[in-house]
Amino acid sequence: MHKSNLRKTIKTLKIGLKEIYKLHHWVLPVVMFDAFFKSIAPFINIYMSSRIINELLGEKDIGILKLLVTITIGINLIVHLVSAGFGHLKDMLMNITTENQQMKLNEKIISMDYEYVENPEVHNLRAKIGEAEKLNGGGIYALIEHTGDLTKSLVTVITSIVLVIDLFKINVTSNGHISFVNSAIFSYIFLILILAGTICSLKLKTKADKKLFGYFSKFMGINRIFCFYADQIYNYNIGKGVRLYNQKEIYSNEIDNFCKNAKKIFTSTGNMNAKYSGFEAFIASFLGGMVYAFVGLKAISGAITIGSIVKYAGSINQFMSGSREMLSSINSIVNNNQYIQLYIDFLNIKGEKHKGTLPVEKRDDDEYEIEFKNVSFKYPEADIYALKNVSIKLNIGERLAIVGMNGSGKTTFIKLLCRLYDPDEGEILLNGINIKKYDYEEYMKLFSIVFQEFKLFSFSLGQNVATSVNYDENVVKDVLYKVGLEERLNKMPKGIHTSLYKDFNENGVEISGGEAQKIALARALYRDSPIIILDEPTAALDPISEFDIYSKFNDIVGTKTAFYISHRLSSCRFCDEIAVFNKGKIIQKGSHYELLKDKKGKYYELWHSQAKYYNDNESA
Ligand code: ADP
Repeated sequence: MHKSNLRKTIKTLKIGLKEIYKLHHWVLPVVMFDAFFKSIAPFINIYMSSRIINELLGEKDIGILKLLVTITIGINLIVHLVSAGFGHLKDMLMNITTENQQMKLNEKIISMDYEYVENPEVHNLRAKIGEAEKLNGGGIYALIEHTGDLTKSLVTVITSIVLVIDLFKINVTSNGHISFVNSAIFSYIFLILILAGTICSLKLKTKADKKLFGYFSKFMGINRIFCFYADQIYNYNIGKGVRLYNQKEIYSNEIDNFCKNAKKIFTSTGNMNAKYSGFEAFIASFLGGMVYAFVGLKAISGAITIGSIVKYAGSINQFMSGSREMLSSINSIVNNNQYIQLYIDFLNIKGEKHKGTLPVEKRDDDEYEIEFKNVSFKYPEADIYALKNVSIKLNIGERLAIVGMNGSGKTTFIKLLCRLYDPDEGEILLNGINIKKYDYEEYMKLFSIVFQEFKLFSFSLGQNVATSVNYDENVVKDVLYKVGLEERLNKMPKGIHTSLYKDFNENGVEISGGEAQKIALARALYRDSPIIILDEPTAALDPISEFDIYSKFNDIVGTKTAFYISHRLSSCRFCDEIAVFNKGKIIQKGSHYELLKDKKGKYYELWHSQAKYYNDNESA
């Protein structure tokens, strides 16, 4: 291995081991102890049976024989009991470590800057970590396992060397035609043969492992697609579309393709495994025969006792398999580094954006004034600005409607306001101070937001509204009534304790898109923040519910400052001011009636293109 590569390998390994220590302090020591006891177990029998055979062929002292057998059984019992205990502890700690690791990854996703959450490369990285773990056990879990394997093989190699070293030191002067077996040169030739055979079989294993990693990487690519389709099939919400649009064929095709590709990969893996393991087995048997021949000849020449044949032959065989395993686990650890690197890369994704410390002024009058001053923003990797030189001031208690075509920058405007992204140029001010200077958590408490793509969970209705396990039931009911869900609530079997959806509770209720939107609205009201932001809050509502919400809007929003994004211009009329977005810029501002006066303006054009689908009189 190249020197810089070696340094990088060791560095990655160190970080991986440190990470394991952080996930659980005791998992590595326990895995290593477990490996230690598992590796010494076979040597007890190798050593003790040689002693028993020697006694049987020699003095035949019943007392000594009884003692030897008792010691053998006793040590075996102790070692196996301790080993089973450590094995159990190891399994437990490995599970805890894996859970801690998952938690850490999840916490990372939740705490990372939003721009990374939207970045497909970050999603790919997270998916790869999961795939590596699921498919070939690569990653943190594998590093723990491989460290255990390395410890086990290291103990095996050291113990076998200790037991076998005598064999090469014995120097008897025996006569006869096989006296050469006790010469130093004969021992060296034998040692060289053993080492050559072991290196040869290791090289084969390394090659096979590399190929196996290659096959797994290929498989990881196609398996992600398979998992996506497999998940979709079980999602009963998607089931409707699958049946109506006859998507069965697309699914079957994709799964068929996956099976064909997977079959190709598995056949190649199987063929490769058969070839390499066959060859390896041949070398191992050949070397095994050599060991018995060598040790047998030593016994015939009188250099060792018959009982020692068991000890030496057993130890040399253990040495061979131990050294093969040792080098193979080193190999696996090095190969596994690529997966550890994925994990490190993920955890190293830039932390949180600058978060100020300034407390947000608590005001009973909810007097919070927001101003965008020449704000420009471009999404990472994007060529064009999503917002360019946007300046707008929103007075306290005002309702600002934001309208414009798709892609004109409305949602981006809100994302910047909520600090999901920071502007590239210009600044956003709250009561005259740059929002970056405020304590992030406190600043976020100012907002209640309903995004278009809100998500309700399969928990109880009350928990969905309060987004909390413990909540004020009266307030929950009150906000549900406010958004017009009183009748629906009364029909629910357990009122606000009724579960939504059937994922976890067969008595859960299915709700319509419109009802879901009202619940999302109630959620924003429950939060009771001074500024409320609604992104297309009525898109899924029927016209009557929509009208109902609008007519009660002032009631619902109260004294709060409200930002209101909508495609339906008719729903913006009640707002004090309307900002028309176009290609990332605010091109018009004013009340509904002021804007309609400009017959060349975008608002006029949008209004008339929509009004013709409704009532012609509305345009007046
Ligand atoms: P609107 O809400 O008015 O439909 P958006 O604010 O969502 O518009 O989008 C404004 C522009 O930014 C569009 O050109 C859109 O394609 C682009 N955009 C939105 N989100 C992202 C993103 N996460 N990454 C890159 N470009 C984006």
